[in-house]
Amino acid sequence: MKPFDAKTLNRVWRSLLVETLDESAHNTAMIASINTDSRAIKPMDCFVALVGEHFDGHDFCQAAVNQGANLLVVESKQPIDCPQIVVKDTRRALGLLAAEIRRQFGGQVIGLTGSVGKTTTKQMLANICQQVGKTHMTQGNLNNDLGVPFTWFALPEDCQFAVIEMGANHQGEIAYLAEIVQPDVGLVLNAGQAHLAGFGGLDGVAKGKGELFSALQSHQTAVINADDAYANWWQDMAANAGSKVTFSMRENAGADVYASDIQLAEQRFTLHYGQHTATVNLPVVGKHYVQNAIAAAAAAYAAGLPMAAVVAGLQTFTLAAGRQQLIQLGQVVIIDDTYNANPQSMQAAGDALSFATGYKIMVLGDMAELGEAQIEIHAQLGASLQHAADAFFCTGTMMQYFAQHNQRAQWFLDKQRLSDELLQWIISNVDKTVPTTILVKGSRSMKMETIVEFLRQQI
Ligand code: ATP
Ligand code: UDP
Ligand code: MG
Repeated sequence: MKPFDAKTLNRVWRSLLVETLDESAHNTAMIASINTDSRAIKPMDCFVALVGEHFDGHDFCQAAVNQGANLLVVESKQPIDCPQIVVKDTRRALGLLAAEIRRQFGGQVIGLTGSVGKTTTKQMLANICQQVGKTHMTQGNLNNDLGVPFTWFALPEDCQFAVIEMGANHQGEIAYLAEIVQPDVGLVLNAGQAHLAGFGGLDGVAKGKGELFSALQSHQTAVINADDAYANWWQDMAANAGSKVTFSMRENAGADVYASDIQLAEQRFTLHYGQHTATVNLPVVGKHYVQNAIAAAAAAYAAGLPMAAVVAGLQTFTLAAGRQQLIQLGQVVIIDDTYNANPQSMQAAGDALSFATGYKIMVLGDMAELGEAQIEIHAQLGASLQHAADAFFCTGTMMQYFAQHNQRAQWFLDKQRLSDELLQWIISNVDKTVPTTILVKGSRSMKMETIVEFLRQQI
């Protein structure tokens, strides 16, 4: 972030101001970066007090000043000797400052959202952009009302591209983020069964994601998934966008960017990119990655990037942590897919596992945030994954229903019991001549990575 002075901040935050900074403090309050955590404050930082679930940041203003903060942004004036700007809403203040940094950015901005595959597609897209010029992207999964502003605060100088992931679990969130991001190219990957509860059903999810399209104006491009059941809705929601680009996994959908000759076992497909075609060899296995690759290619097409950059970017991208990372432990390959899970990504993981040779095990935890249908969804998945692996080790309240509908599944009361049993199974069964692949997956709240850690230490 380039340094901001307090005068500029007063201007950026004028619509939120309760009490403006007094004139005498203007010169001293030159800030290097924005920080919301008193424990991580560095000299010249601006401390923004957020009210969270567990703590109230206002209680840590003195600690922040002791650490070197030279400006406080607060919702009520603090009895502390330090320049302060008092605003109505400190979260909004972060958003407005991010929007200002975005306005000053001269490069191209690609914003993406969707139910599943955002981070993976972001990794692909950023690697494509990187082939052409310096690219900034969302770090990790910082995709919400705090993560998106911090993504902008971390923008390095002279970038040509910014690839921004936008996440949501309720209506209005994407609209808020789109106002900050103002993407030149806006991509919605899909609408699926993630955060069903918060959005109020699948229509609600599609509407919530479509808020990105509704935000687009005549100088911006909408990138639409022609294969999604909500494609027509999204075409309507993108009515004010200057142009539209479509993508598809089907040859006859009439899409601008599409895949043909998809050879899943070889991880290869033919990319159709406007008038051009090329063969792409992906470094990852599974049909869902082809979907993400096509979506990333379509966004690159909308941004006017050459096809050579797309091919090079897709062939060399790397997955983010916890998304199907391969870990070789002696005879056993662990696929660490513990970052998160929902019905689509569970199915995709099972489909991808079916390409592994040898003995296959799925170690599964609950899928969260599925609302009223959660029991039925777990039961259905149990049945549909029946043939994806030779054995299933499950844990979590909801996974009981999965196990009831899957003859190869065993259910355990907790992760420790599951881990102990799995280790015993590995010790007595793993055969030097047959490879064994163990895929571990569950929702974030299940923290299934502790099982991966246990196996790492014990095998
Ligand atoms: P979050 O909402 O948590 O930010 P995300 O949308 O960023 O998730 P990823 O982190 O890319 O999604 O992927 C999450 C999981 O979904 C991974 O297990 C990945 O393998 C799987 N996945 C990725 N893309 C798809 C897809 N197109 N269809 C189904 N599953 C997918
Ligand atoms: N906070 C802080 N110092 C502390 C503890 C918390 O500055 O020692 C800040 C924290 O960074 C956050 C705010 O107080 O900006 C609210 O904290 P909480 O953990 O409740 O946030 P949540 O995780 O609920 O959003
Ligand atoms: Mg993500």
